[in-house]
Amino acid sequence: MSGILASTLCAQCGQDDQVQAVTSIYQGGRVRQSGLYHSGYGAGAYEVTSTTDLAAALAPTPRIYSLIVGLLTPFLGVFRIRKTLMVRRGLPAAMLVWNAGRYCHRCGVVSLEGQAMSPLAFRQRVWDAGGYGNFRS
Ligand SMILES: [Zn+2]
Repeated sequence: MSGILASTLCAQCGQDDQVQAVTSIYQGGRVRQSGLYHSGYGAGAYEVTSTTDLAAALAPTPRIYSLIVGLLTPFLGVFRIRKTLMVRRGLPAAMLVWNAGRYCHRCGVVSLEGQAMSPLAFRQRVWDAGGYGNFRS
């Protein structure tokens, strides 16, 4: 599969002054925190990433968990591991599409191959390309 040519022009307004790569909006919209927790079931480490609404709408994958977390929570573990493996397998194809997205802050749309679409429609295109479009965030 070849790469997708990314235009720097917004497909809706035709300008480039408010256009930013989806990848940098996503990275800029996330803050990571980690620490230790204690609960009635035991203790462990947690890592929480808070995300702006726009960054969440542009996420390249649904939320996935580390395999260790999946193994430690047996009731949800099987589903989480299956989901994580599916997402990891599809990620290279999804990233080709994701890397080509350009968001226009004026129009609030993502341009991809000359088409303007909402951030959520763009995210669906990315997830479909990765074969995990049926997952929810
Ligand atoms: Zn625009």
